[in-house]
Order: sequence, then C-alpha cells, then structure tokens
Amino acid sequence: MKIYIDGKFYPEKDAKISVFDHGLLYGDGAFEGIRVYNGRIFKLAEHLDRLRASAQAIVLNLPMSREALTEAAVETCRRNKLRDGYIRLVVTRGVGYLGLSPYKCKKPTVFIIAATIELYPEKVYRKGMKLVTVGTTRTSPAALSPNVKSLNYLNNIMAKVEALHAGGDEGLMLNAQGYIAECTGDNVFILKRGVLLTPPTSAGALCGITRQTVMDLAGEAGIPVREENFTRYDIFTADECFLTGTAAEVVPVRELDRRVISGGRPGPVTTELMRRYKELTARNGTPIYA
Ligand code: PMP
Repeated sequence: MKIYIDGKFYPEKDAKISVFDHGLLYGDGAFEGIRVYNGRIFKLAEHLDRLRASAQAIVLNLPMSREALTEAAVETCRRNKLRDGYIRLVVTRGVGYLGLSPYKCKKPTVFIIAATIELYPEKVYRKGMKLVTVGTTRTSPAALSPNVKSLNYLNNIMAKVEALHAGGDEGLMLNAQGYIAECTGDNVFILKRGVLLTPPTSAGALCGITRQTVMDLAGEAGIPVREENFTRYDIFTADECFLTGTAAEVVPVRELDRRVISGGRPGPVTTELMRRYKELTARNGTPIYA
C-alpha cells in the first residue's frame, strides 16, 4: 500500500507522522471518509466542501487547494490500483510543541490512505441491525459542534463501546435534551405514516453526505422527507428505521433496545432506498482512470 503524506508517497511501513503532530497529541485536525465505487470517487466535491468547513471552524488553513486535494486523492487511488474501496483524507494541525496553542504549529499535515473497507456483515443488510441507546450524549454544539468532523472521536468511541458492551451493533446517541442526535458513525432515519424523518443538524447530527444523498433519492421517489426532532418513542413506534453513512451506506434497523421495529425485517421504503443508493453509486463520481 502507498500512503500520501504532504505531497509524497510512502510504502505503508515508512508512512509515519511526528509524535509532536497536534493531530496525535490533541486530536487537533479534521478528516473525511470517502468511498470509491467502480473506479470513481463518490461525492468527492461534497466531502471536500465539508472538510473545508470543518477546517474553517477550527481555524485551520488547508495547505492545499481544492484542485490539489482532488488530484492527490485521485493519484493515491491510482498508485494503489483501487477501483472499489475507501479513502481516508486527514488534515492535522501539524508538528508543534507541547502545549495547546495551534499557532506554534508551522504547517498542517495532509495524509491520504486509499484502502479497502470492512462493511457491516452481510447479514445486517438482510436482517437489519440492533441499536442500543447509550448513556453518552452527543457533544453539545455549545462545546464543539458535531458538524466539525474532527480527529477527536472519543465521544463517539465511548458510545460505541457502550453499545458493544450491551450486545448491540450500534449505539443510538441522544443530545442533552433527550432528542435523537445520530449513531456513533451514521445518521438515523425513521419512516412514519409515509413520511421520512431525520434529526436536524441542530440536534447534534453530522451533516452526513449519505444523509443528504438519501434525502435527494427519497425526493425523486416521491417520498416526503422532513428534518425534525424526535425521541426514542418515535423509533419504537416507527414503521421503518435505517442508518446512513459513507462506509455503511443504507442499513436497515430491526431493533432498538430489544424492541422490534418494522416487524424485525427491512421495510419496503428502506429496501427501495438501498436499491436506489446502490444504483447511484455504481454510475456516479470523479473518474480515477479517465
Ligand atoms: N455521523 C457521524 C458521527 C459520522 O462520523 C459519520 C461519518 N462516518 C456520519 C454521521 C455519516 O456521514 P456521511 O454520510 O457523510 O459519511
């Protein structure tokens, strides 16, 4: 595997970052996870927009132009002969001193990994996944906006640990008000009386790119979609429930806290959106091997 770091490619064993990089010392930086399908990078422009926004929110000046980042991502895929997989694009604050101030870090570090991805087991897509509500609430926007896709994922990691300890596949995270925010790495949707609902980003949901894509696909399919606050009650009583995320794509949910949803199987709207999502990913994106 060849890894891109600041303009050069390194074999995996030589791809190393300084222990003084604030990305490592403090989780100071931002990242994107991007999919490659059929020799094309899916929704690259949207991911680069979100990366820029994350960087701007944490006063980090991206050291590369949009064109240069695009070229670097494409070239990393080419060097690894990747046709289907996952790109991890990371920008850290860079090498500095001990101490929080980012202003002593001379230059952000950019690295890109293009690899294969481990999805949830196939069974989860056929049968649906089990969600567990976790006690760890989503970070308050007053502390750090959940819309910053930062390198500090401890909030989500602690929630994931809770979910796994409780025997679930995924953890459902609430905000401080008790409304649903999202899962540890995916957005949440429910279907109620023919209307698709997803929490607004103000509830603590990341502005997911798959979330937006699914909202667009639902629009095309004539399914009304609303961003609205909802609670666990609404999931318990939903007709269908599913998660969305770049790595996960569209995943049906069969249970929340051991209460069965949607008769314990993927519902027709979920199945239709899964189908449309797959179709879209197969024919769209930035070509790598043009
Ligand atoms: N929420 C969180 C916390 C995430 O980390 C992610 C991305 N893995 C998502 C939602 C889904 O966002 P996207 O569809 O852009 O991958």
